[in-house]
Amino acid sequence: MLVNVDCRWNLAIRRMRTYYEAQGCEVDMRDLGYGFYPHSKSCVIDAAGYELVAVSNIFETNAYRVEVVNCENVVYGGVGSRDGTRMLPPEIEACEPWYGPEEDTAHGFITRGCIRNCYFCKVPKHEGALRPYRSVEEVVGGFKKAVFMDNNILAWGGAEDAMDWLAEHRISCEFNQGLDIRLVTESNLERLAALNYRGEYAFALDDARMIPFVEKRLGLVKRYIPKPWKLKFFVYVGPKMAPEETVRRVEFLKEHECLPYVMRDIAVYRAGNDLSNFYTDLAAWCNQPGLFKKMDFGEFLDKRHPRNQRRGGCRSRSGTATRSDARRAGARRRGCLKTSTGMAFAANASSDEEKED
Ligand code: SF4
Repeated sequence: MLVNVDCRWNLAIRRMRTYYEAQGCEVDMRDLGYGFYPHSKSCVIDAAGYELVAVSNIFETNAYRVEVVNCENVVYGGVGSRDGTRMLPPEIEACEPWYGPEEDTAHGFITRGCIRNCYFCKVPKHEGALRPYRSVEEVVGGFKKAVFMDNNILAWGGAEDAMDWLAEHRISCEFNQGLDIRLVTESNLERLAALNYRGEYAFALDDARMIPFVEKRLGLVKRYIPKPWKLKFFVYVGPKMAPEETVRRVEFLKEHECLPYVMRDIAVYRAGNDLSNFYTDLAAWCNQPGLFKKMDFGEFLDKRHPRNQRRGGCRSRSGTATRSDARRAGARRRGCLKTSTGMAFAANASSDEEKED
């Protein structure tokens, strides 16, 4: 039995299925669909009759949420598992991933690793330096659609050739882990723009200090990809970050008709204070493109927390009021928030946390 705990598309599990089926084994594959943020889900799997159970997860929050009973041969793997260093044996690593008959999209990596060492990221530790892994042709196989999960494809010398191949074969594709805006050039942007691209081109804006640089690069990117809202930026939120700085990033993106995707560090989520509630609201607004494009944060809060509408002066505001909300949240966290608006904000933010998508 192969158990994928929390990965949208688990390459290791898929390779294992190919391998064991080729050995003549009957394989049962289960997707538990657990998420990243702490939750109360857990399960006990009765594996009586199975010779082997492999459990794979990528988020540490889920490392101990699956218990397997009645089987003596249970292995746990994946970067967030109780044994995060476990690697696939070479004979399994060499296998192609298994696809179900209804699946129409290839998934995989052309490269592994990364050239950077961002302090919040596990890739440098688990994958090491950037290196080629599979050819683009191998990943795509016979499919017409492909999702590439490369960590930093633009840092690889073969990226332009790979994109030329994808364009030539009219593969509908995306690089879903994001593109490094520090590495865009006229040459790779021309190729990115020529792709039959699925969804938005994703970049990252992980620090407000990068805004001036990103603004300059955006000018270049938009020369090739001018369509409004066709660019998305991951917005990492760490526990030591000032909320005003996060809001400044979000505001900057909205002004430039780029979508944010707010990714809260687990420590931010776990804090359970006004600030983490504020970020829950902010993420719920930012991470739903239809709502983010259509309304400002104040309107969004009105809809999300209608019961608290009368409480404060922050109910009917322009989008720029989000920064003052953040300031109030920060102030409240420091124990010095006394304004009625801030109280309204705090009450709003804490009442419906489970609404986030
Ligand atoms: S660039 Fe992306 S993949 Fe590379 S270390 Fe930073 S966050 Fe991780």
